[in-house]
Amino acid sequence: MSLSPSSLLILLLSITAVSYLIGLAIDLLELSSTRTELPPEVTAFYDPEKYAQSVRYHREHGRFSLWTGALGFVASFLMLLTGGFGWLDHQLRYWVTGDLPLALAFFGVLALASDLLGTPFQWYSTFVIEARYGFNKTTARTFWLDKFKGYALGALIGGAMMAAMWWLIAWAGDQFWIWFGLVAAGVMLVLQLVYTSWLLPLFNKLTPLADGPLKTAIEAFATRAQFPVQHILVMDGSRRSSKANAFFSGFGRSKKIVLYDTLIEKHTTDELVAILAHEVGHYKKRHIVSGYILSVVQVFFMLFILAQMLHSETLSLALGAGEVAMHVNLIAFAILISPLSGVLGIWMNALSRRHEFEADAWARHHFSGAALASALKRLSVESLSELYPHPAYVWLHYSHPPLLARLQALEEG
Ligand SMILES: [Zn+2]
Repeated sequence: MSLSPSSLLILLLSITAVSYLIGLAIDLLELSSTRTELPPEVTAFYDPEKYAQSVRYHREHGRFSLWTGALGFVASFLMLLTGGFGWLDHQLRYWVTGDLPLALAFFGVLALASDLLGTPFQWYSTFVIEARYGFNKTTARTFWLDKFKGYALGALIGGAMMAAMWWLIAWAGDQFWIWFGLVAAGVMLVLQLVYTSWLLPLFNKLTPLADGPLKTAIEAFATRAQFPVQHILVMDGSRRSSKANAFFSGFGRSKKIVLYDTLIEKHTTDELVAILAHEVGHYKKRHIVSGYILSVVQVFFMLFILAQMLHSETLSLALGAGEVAMHVNLIAFAILISPLSGVLGIWMNALSRRHEFEADAWARHHFSGAALASALKRLSVESLSELYPHPAYVWLHYSHPPLLARLQALEEG
């Protein structure tokens, strides 16, 4: 890289500011575009009072997010401007020796500091805003327990990934990115496989679905759709939030379907099967496999670029460090890559929205479009989802198409 540290710092600051301003502009468009009249497709499900409440929820949540976004931006901008990352590196060198312990301490401190900064906001969002609209079922105890479990898990997974990376860099030199990509691909595969067996039970209680009409209907559908299911589980999602959800995980024959108890409570058997049919549609259309392959390609690509930046002295100096430090360069890499990862994210969201339409179409063809439409309306009412999101906001943020677009596609076929 031929840039001087000071021009590189200007580039880093500009990227941070421009991407914040683009996000802010789109947020403001979204906040100002909310329409309040109720579309005829959903009048049977939404009562006007509830919809008005939904609009208020979105406005309040949106305005609150403006503050957390601004705080995050100011914090990272100031850290860059004042050489805070280099300063932290310098301080830690008095206490910690060795490349890996230094890197672990560096990211440990940064993660802890940014989480502490964000905690009052998470608290307010959960216990004030969500509670006001009846979403929150979390107690203070669960809030803190989740946080500490999250810390432990983050330290374990983050620490292991970083140790693996540092070890691979020492062992494989400039070729480390190939090896690290292979390790990451393996870890992602294992996580996908053990997510419901190992990770979910840490945070939630999973019990097998009891015999009854629902189980019979799901099994009949699974047989007809030639979808091998090993277990159907119910998750006590109601302990945290009344927002409903369903998914399955695992590959091959070890697939498990997980339904939130809140989902079962609120939907008819046909609607529940239709929701599962949508999920099975993702599987049949190979969205899960192609999503995995895309993520792996993305990881390799990012690692290749990282390998070109990791030992750059200019990057470390630009962030205020006195000498080359790989962990400081990781921060610079994250910022420099963000325009590219932003574009990739927009593309992945567009792909994901297309996949949602395909899964809906599959469910319509193999089960029932009407049952899925009514399930989607009910889900949308329960989560108070936005009926008229601004197109720019959908383009940037939505991994799922807005409700009205999905209903229209289900009707037209
Ligand atoms: Zn889907």
